[in-house]
Amino acid sequence: MDLLLYNAGEIATLSHGEVSKPLSGIEMVDREKLVLDSGNAILISKGIIRKISSQEELIQEFAPDFSDGKSNLVDIIDAHGNAIIPGLVDCHTHLLWTGDRSNEMNMRQNGLSYQEISIRGGGISRTVESTRSATKKYLVNLGKHRISQASMNGTTTLEAKSGYGLSVESEIKLLEASSEIPQDKCNLLPTWLGAHDFPKGKSKDEYVEELISEQLPLVAENKLANWVDVFCEPGWYDLEQTELIVKASKELGLKSRLHVDEFVDSNGLALAAELGSSSADHVGFSNTESRAKAHESNTMQVFLPGTPYVLGKNLGDGINECIENNWNFSLATDFNPNCQTLSLPFVASLATHRLGIDPLAALVACTRNPASTLNSELKLNVGSIYEGGPADINILKSEYLDYWCQTPGLSPIEKTLFSGSLV
Ligand SMILES: [Zn+2]
Repeated sequence: MDLLLYNAGEIATLSHGEVSKPLSGIEMVDREKLVLDSGNAILISKGIIRKISSQEELIQEFAPDFSDGKSNLVDIIDAHGNAIIPGLVDCHTHLLWTGDRSNEMNMRQNGLSYQEISIRGGGISRTVESTRSATKKYLVNLGKHRISQASMNGTTTLEAKSGYGLSVESEIKLLEASSEIPQDKCNLLPTWLGAHDFPKGKSKDEYVEELISEQLPLVAENKLANWVDVFCEPGWYDLEQTELIVKASKELGLKSRLHVDEFVDSNGLALAAELGSSSADHVGFSNTESRAKAHESNTMQVFLPGTPYVLGKNLGDGINECIENNWNFSLATDFNPNCQTLSLPFVASLATHRLGIDPLAALVACTRNPASTLNSELKLNVGSIYEGGPADINILKSEYLDYWCQTPGLSPIEKTLFSGSLV
């Protein structure tokens, strides 16, 4: 039976213009074009949005017997006057890893460096060790649990990186586990991040050679990921190694999204733009010239404010710089052992409460904009509400859409529809 979503408050459709394309600058806060006032309803058929129109018109057309909130002709969802926003799109997560490094915060607070923590058996190598020893079944279950948490916070499309295996066998295991997580609450799109760090017991050159001659061909052959990612930072993968890996991936038909300029400006964003990467993520320290270049090359700048937040660092000026210059940008969670949030509303709260970003701009940065980097691998464009689009929809607990990022620590979501079904 078709489904009628009625009694809605504001509806943030975000679907002005071409829905596959991102929005920038003042387009992101154009309420007249992006938001419908209350009094509208949505008719959903077989998981697809069939019609968005005034409530009276839709009731007359599809539920003429409607009375007392009931109809025998369509299923009814009462939004109780609450606002409606698109399903959220998290384009940067390290979804699968195991272990617990929460004791490291106190070490950091006591002045221990990343290297010193590593010498004491902590840091990424600890996560790699425990992730390598986990079974695939365990990882799939863990993934299911984490997807539920993302879903409770309104996420309906999520990118998931490997990267805590750092060997042929365990990187493949992580990607296979991602592909086995049921996609009943959320679309899940895998990215290979074998180039997250260097494993113990191998030289850097040996490992890069392994990535190019063993890991990547296996990933491409078995269609285990759509993108590759490289941790391009001084001390990890340099510009040359990053370019080598991305070019080898391209030959295998894989696109790229890169970790760049998180700690310093190493021209990582400029390289991502030159290589035509779908996105360049972190970009905290990128220079202005690189940001302009990225925009021209359609390389999305993805900010991950949760990471500087948990490290006690400044959130930076990059987001505001993008808005002022009409450059495309997105926000994502960067869920990882140090930054354990799968809540985009929380991340957007950092952008709005701490950086003064308009809640509507933050919403575009967590829906339509990140979706534009992932849509190529989905049947329909996600990230906005439009006729013919997927019924991935959140009903908030408030009549105002701005509420969506004003409940840090609590979910603002009343109900979520994924492909037209209540999650
Ligand atoms: Zn990351």
